[in-house]
Amino acid sequence: MARETLQTALEARAAPMALARDEGKGRLRCLACGHRCLIPEGRAGICKVRFNRGGTLYGPWGYVAALQDDPIEKKPFYHALPGSMATSFGMLGCDFHCGYCQNWLTSQALRDEQALAPIRPIEARAIVDHARHVGALSVTSTYNEPLITSEWAVEVFREARAARLTTAYVSNGNSTDEVIAYLRPWLDLCKIDLKGFDDKRYRALGGTLQNVLDGIARAQRAGFWVEVVTLVVPGFNDSDEELRAIAGFLVELSPDIPWHVTAFHPDYRMSDRGATPVATLMRARTFGQAAGLRYVYAGNLPGRVGDGENTRCPQCGELLIERRGFRVLRQRLERGQCARCRAPIPGFWEPRAAEAPARVRETRIGSP
Ligand code: SF4
Repeated sequence: MARETLQTALEARAAPMALARDEGKGRLRCLACGHRCLIPEGRAGICKVRFNRGGTLYGPWGYVAALQDDPIEKKPFYHALPGSMATSFGMLGCDFHCGYCQNWLTSQALRDEQALAPIRPIEARAIVDHARHVGALSVTSTYNEPLITSEWAVEVFREARAARLTTAYVSNGNSTDEVIAYLRPWLDLCKIDLKGFDDKRYRALGGTLQNVLDGIARAQRAGFWVEVVTLVVPGFNDSDEELRAIAGFLVELSPDIPWHVTAFHPDYRMSDRGATPVATLMRARTFGQAAGLRYVYAGNLPGRVGDGENTRCPQCGELLIERRGFRVLRQRLERGQCARCRAPIPGFWEPRAAEAPARVRETRIGSP
């Protein structure tokens, strides 16, 4: 779809947004992400998908640019409904512009001539019906930045909760108090990227370090189950100093936050360097463990990181969840406790649905 046609199609589908404040003289303050854009009449915010028309803030509604079913380990959540399927939906646009984005076709669709993803009109109920049909236990807003399309996500999550499904965000963490308060009744799980610990580089991606750090703390305070991911990019954020700083920040927040250090592969505009070596991920994992984090996972290199994909009991060392890539091979958790020593393992372990589709768990959790 040509860019003008796409913009017109999106504007035709847009609906009035709740996360906005009137600032007088026709200007609106958008509250959906940390940019807090002040938007005059006829203009759009930094994300390009929320705009002021006649003194009302409009934004994305009633479509998907991607809808698919993934293992929940792919989001990645390792302490939530292991071995289950997550129906994942995404719209267009982002408040960041990361050069190595792996979802750039959807996230940068309104910014980059090369990124043109078609949209498909859909009702919130249809997304949830689809999730139930395929036996998913959760519904996830992902593929673009969900904070900027939060009103639509809540519309989907209302339906999801009615169907006893768990709800999730895969976010860059550039939130506000207002958007978190808005999401709080509806959101269960939140994966947040912590892309480094250097404000200058964060600004080059389109954000600020402090607001993302605040965003992680905010999500945790709201009671969401939070897992943090750092895509370790050679020459960008892989120094000892930076990795140690990330681990130090997280452990201060809670030693129980799972930290995923995942391998980069050249993508989008960052093709000037190679993929992350195994040794770099293992180094990052060692820093996390040395800082006191109890759950540090090495991702994107299945079968090559030793114990780095598995969950062990921090008290007795028992292997609780054995993984290979996105597959759960075996688990020895019993109602959120270690099956051997009964230590509680933090996470979101039980599905909401009393009649959870057992076939999904049976087919995805097997013997090694
Ligand atoms: S979502 Fe963020 S970038 Fe988009 S208009 Fe609102 S404050 Fe600006």
